[in-house]
Amino acid sequence: MAHCARGTHWQNRRMPRPIQATVHTQALAHNLRRAREAAPEARVWAVVKADAYGHGIANAYAGLHGADGFALLDIAEAERVRALGWRGPVLLLEGCFEARDLEACSRLDLWHVIHRDEQIDWLAAHRAAHAQRVFLKLNSGMNRLGFTAAAYRGAWLRLSGLTQVDDIVLMTHFADADGAPGIAAQQAVFDAATRELPGERSLCNSAATLRFAADMPEARADWIRPGIMVYGSAPDFPAHDIAHWDLQPTMTLRSRLISTQQLRRGDSVGYGSAFRADAEMRIGVAACGYADGYPRLAPTGTPVLVDGVRTRLVGRVSMDMVTIDLTPVPAADVGSEVTLWGCGPGRSVLAIDEVAHAAGTVGYELMCALAKRVPISVD
Ligand SMILES: *Cc1c(COP(=O)(O)O)cnc(C)c1O
Repeated sequence: MAHCARGTHWQNRRMPRPIQATVHTQALAHNLRRAREAAPEARVWAVVKADAYGHGIANAYAGLHGADGFALLDIAEAERVRALGWRGPVLLLEGCFEARDLEACSRLDLWHVIHRDEQIDWLAAHRAAHAQRVFLKLNSGMNRLGFTAAAYRGAWLRLSGLTQVDDIVLMTHFADADGAPGIAAQQAVFDAATRELPGERSLCNSAATLRFAADMPEARADWIRPGIMVYGSAPDFPAHDIAHWDLQPTMTLRSRLISTQQLRRGDSVGYGSAFRADAEMRIGVAACGYADGYPRLAPTGTPVLVDGVRTRLVGRVSMDMVTIDLTPVPAADVGSEVTLWGCGPGRSVLAIDEVAHAAGTVGYELMCALAKRVPISVD
């Protein structure tokens, strides 16, 4: 069973609506330790792009400051990590988008990915007091970013001839680390393309870290780059869940019932009358909808906790409300606590992956989509 480090409490400050997200810093620290255990000897980039997968960089930093570095996408995010007092490595995962970004790299002491020739041109023209550390990206089969195997060595030679560069880490990214194909084919491409090149190496995302790093030293290499596992989501759900990987939820989204309705047989619920009761039943209405980041495509049957008891959504998700079957929890009433995902009352847990799966998506998308209007507390 997955479990939560400890129960959480509502903030007492007045909220316009009874909805709140909570970021669990102890769980972040626990999950980061799990990444370290899975890849002994490797250093760990905590990936905090997309505002730390929706958790908020400052909130996530409170749990993740034991990482060896922070990997993210844009300079505004890098500035925030520096403003939090982080003096260690910060890596731009997509590198510079334009030449002038190199000035920010110098000013903020950022490491950055080089994945195409023009980025090398910019570096060659860059005037800076200190040489920079770069990650040279190989396209080993995903066909998003990176130099082909044929072009990789040439890019490395060009970079290594620049006074603007003092270290080149070799990197690639896996497309199928979470699925049946695994990483073997891309690992072989990487090994062949980098065979005679010196330097550290970085390959593993969360799925590769959990599934392959322990047994494949060439995959765990010098730096791993876990994201989703640190945020308490199993990258290979439903094959494995967070309990299997000993990960803890890091984000709870909860609300309360603001109404109940007694349905007669044949009554329908919500927009499109998408659910119809085939017998008498009682439902509850919770203050959470797609404008809070809850997935609109979550169908009837999507799991939800009411007062820590597992039940299901019925009918369509609205902008500001969801409707919930109260049959398994007859004592529930207006004010009852509703856990959309994360840690419920007592030791109840609803993994974000279960909700995502029911809605036809992944935990990543739900946490990243948490809406601005939802206040976030930290425990
Ligand atoms: C987002 C990202 C990661 C982290 O991936 P997870 O699946 O969340 O672990 C690692 N490396 C790169 C290049 C990324 O863009």
